[in-house]
Amino acid sequence: MKGGRPRAPATLAGHLGRHPRRHLGAVNTPVYRASTILFPTMADLEASARGEYDAIGYGLHGLPTVADLQDAVAGLEGGHAALAVPSGLAATTLPLLALLGPGDHVLVTDSVYFPTRRFCDTHLRRLGVAVDYYDPLAAADVARWFRPTTRVVFTESPGSLTFEVQDIRAIADVAHARGALVVLDNTWATPFGFRAFDHGVDVSVHAATKYIGGHSDVLLGVIVAGEEAYSPLRRLWTDTGVTPSSDDCFLALRGLRTLPTRLARHQASALAVASWLRGRPEVREVLYPALPGSRGHALWKRDFAAASGLFGVVLHPVPHDAVGAMLDGLELFGMGWSWGGFESLVIPTWAERVRTATRWEPGGPCLRLHIGLEDPDDLVADLEAGFARLNAAAR
Ligand SMILES: *Cc1c(COP(=O)(O)O)cnc(C)c1O
Repeated sequence: MKGGRPRAPATLAGHLGRHPRRHLGAVNTPVYRASTILFPTMADLEASARGEYDAIGYGLHGLPTVADLQDAVAGLEGGHAALAVPSGLAATTLPLLALLGPGDHVLVTDSVYFPTRRFCDTHLRRLGVAVDYYDPLAAADVARWFRPTTRVVFTESPGSLTFEVQDIRAIADVAHARGALVVLDNTWATPFGFRAFDHGVDVSVHAATKYIGGHSDVLLGVIVAGEEAYSPLRRLWTDTGVTPSSDDCFLALRGLRTLPTRLARHQASALAVASWLRGRPEVREVLYPALPGSRGHALWKRDFAAASGLFGVVLHPVPHDAVGAMLDGLELFGMGWSWGGFESLVIPTWAERVRTATRWEPGGPCLRLHIGLEDPDDLVADLEAGFARLNAAAR
């Protein structure tokens, strides 16, 4: 966009990746459904075969609805360019495949989203990549885990089950001094909450399934890359044919337009519910970096512009069935995977089962709450009734 002064993120969210004049003046880029794209002349078709045609030559390679989503997210986050893929998991795994080869070593945070860990332990190892996990709180100490062959450091901040905030700048400084690139799973913060490229990240990935889509009706990922990482990523994206559908990108673009507004509400309501929870006798600890006094709050305050509505709660020890009694009767909190939609969710979590580099000893049963866009007083009342059931079952 042209214009003298830099635009605020909320303004950009409404304007990036929109070209009404190309689409009859329509505000939103329409859904383009196309596989075959017809060439006007044989010379154009031949130019396309040589990679010298400057329009799209085939539906797989970037229809306008897909391209506009990519441009909007890259522009918002300040990356060089973005690639959309059919899921968040494809967004976390594709950069690892693109940037690593046999004999290379990758460092992965011990707090990583479990399916990303599973991919590293199986497919990366099968391809001859050495995989090590490091303490998410290591900061510059991550140097301890480096080998001469370390090419990538994978980060996720905060971890989506345990909510450790990582010192991304300190990790990036160590990685860059040793010739490694930093990949960040930035799903929790979204491009608004954490400006990854200002903190030294080379590739920032998003499960657009979560807040960007925002309505629990689309599976999608976006990979935003800096200049160095973009070309190997673009090559792999093209060669593996993992372009998402225009329908899904349309929904993600539609979600993106309201993301700053939704995020502010998620954060305000999550803070209200989290501080109420902290005062409950059943609660041992609230894991929400945006909440003053929580673990990671100082780092969150230093580095983040916003928080999302996802956080953890550690309960004091109670029988397993008592937790079930609490969760089973909730009326507003649904139980299910994923998060980032307009609705509130809760799940029990067991992060201690998957750690290898560090121990996770929360001291009681853990829950993960996603605070949706409902009225926070109603959510508190639903949880309060849940604690009554928990206490009755524990007696
Ligand atoms: C959900 C999630 C993903 C994967 O997204 P899908 O679209 O479900 O594949 C990746 N990273 C994090 C942190 C997530 O929460």
